[in-house]
Amino acid sequence: MDLELQSLLNLQEKDLAAQEVENELAGLLPELEQLERELAEVESALEAAQVALKQAGSRRQELEGKIEGYKLMQDRKRQKLEWVRGAKEASEIMAELDLARSVLAREEADWVRSADKVLEAEARATETQSVVDEVKEAQAPKREEILAKQSEYQIKLDVAQSECDKAKQSVPKPFLSKYERILKGNAPMVLFALRGGACGNCFTAVPMHLRQQIEHAGAIVNCQACGVMVYAIAE
Ligand SMILES: [Zn+2]
Repeated sequence: MDLELQSLLNLQEKDLAAQEVENELAGLLPELEQLERELAEVESALEAAQVALKQAGSRRQELEGKIEGYKLMQDRKRQKLEWVRGAKEASEIMAELDLARSVLAREEADWVRSADKVLEAEARATETQSVVDEVKEAQAPKREEILAKQSEYQIKLDVAQSECDKAKQSVPKPFLSKYERILKGNAPMVLFALRGGACGNCFTAVPMHLRQQIEHAGAIVNCQACGVMVYAIAE
């Protein structure tokens, strides 16, 4: 076998090995993404529960402010009532106080409802938080396993890639640039053996004169149909 062919086949073998590790590494991603999706789902529910809690809290606070204001107003009216001498003015203030009392009662009923809502929202936020915690806990072993595999494959890949770099050094430059160009294309590999007079990748028949060069002169010829390098297996 020619040295060129030997060096190319060696490079291809190393490239395929690296590719396999890359595929294994990429194969971990869907699993990891699935875990991310699961977590994101419960986390967004938690976020919504926290927003709702904040809103309920500000509604309650708003009502408290209003109630405070009404009470102050009532106090002032009551004080005023003590100083009023005229019966008409006094009855006017009394009427105002009556009205203010009923408004206040309504606001206080609203406050009770809003306080209930705060409690409900708190319960929901706590519950959602515990769901998030549960999901995280349940995911932890799986994540650890994936991360461990990732670093294991990464080490393998680094080794495989340095093997490729080493293999490249023995391939003559013109062959190497051709090889790399084909590698970037659609074919699954660069080098295919001649099979029954046809390209081993696309099975297009190789013209007779080229076939003879491949078989008898050990030439490496590009398939005219798919572009891969076609070589003969040594007998
Ligand atoms: Zn072909």
